[in-house]
Amino acid sequence: MCRDIYVADQADINVGLQIMTNTTTISLPNNLTIGGDDILLMAGPCSVESYEQTYAVAKSMQALGLCVLRGGAFKPRTSPDAFQGLGLDGLKILRAIADEFGMLVISEALGVEQLTMVVEYSDIIQIGSRNMQHFPLLWAAGEQPKPILLKRGFMSTILEWLAAAEHITSRGNQKIILCERGIRSFDSSTRNVLDVSAIAQIKTSTQFPIIADPSHATGRADLVPAASRAAIAAGADGLLVEVHPNPEEALSDGDQSLPLESLPAFVEDMRRIASAMGRGLESKRSASKLSSQKSGDF
Ligand code: PEP
Ligand code: MN
Repeated sequence: MCRDIYVADQADINVGLQIMTNTTTISLPNNLTIGGDDILLMAGPCSVESYEQTYAVAKSMQALGLCVLRGGAFKPRTSPDAFQGLGLDGLKILRAIADEFGMLVISEALGVEQLTMVVEYSDIIQIGSRNMQHFPLLWAAGEQPKPILLKRGFMSTILEWLAAAEHITSRGNQKIILCERGIRSFDSSTRNVLDVSAIAQIKTSTQFPIIADPSHATGRADLVPAASRAAIAAGADGLLVEVHPNPEEALSDGDQSLPLESLPAFVEDMRRIASAMGRGLESKRSASKLSSQKSGDF
């Protein structure tokens, strides 16, 4: 079934969007899926800073059954003086730790020249908010087979976002997960504004799985649980959450990073909201599936 998505300036943008309304379920390695019945929680540090820092996060995640590790190796920082990420070394740290814990890796490619490297070390390729309309990157991402997480540009309309997704699909790769990560507003009390209605629109009017990034949307760790609850209640298929062993010393985005101690309560909170929506947590179920597979019990 096709349905028009309401966009005020639709008449001004002439794109041939092929929008279907049934969410596509995307298969990921390790028996994980996104866009199906259950919700996928992805978590990890904003930036990979060291082996020890990333290991500490992954260990806490594993104890809770979370199995998609996020981490930036190439960072899109507003200031050139800020920490730019560990680059290839960061990708190697992520991969080694994820493999040790049986997790997947999601990491950002900032440009076409890094894409091959990020594809080699990651299971899901993140295209960041600032790059949503970086067309050569979208085309290159569309020509490789791994799933893409396409974040919404913080000044982009929903239609521009969908058109960006179509730049990827037009090159062959249909495995796109959209991510609402907040849009810019006049209110400086939060970093951005989580567009909950965008989540509902994408969910009910397009075929793309949609997740929310409550960390960049709010910029405040204290608001991350509420924003996450709202996103799941609006129909999000997952979350991308920043977590740090010591947020006060984080090299990027410490203010919005959950400390490890708060992770168990956060995951429990998400489980309750998911259950109220008739859904489970994909990560938990698959983690037990994996460990039972390892012990030969299928
Ligand atoms: C990130 O996920 O670390 C990031 C930089 O996100 P965004 O592109 O949404 O700012
Ligand atoms: Mn960040």
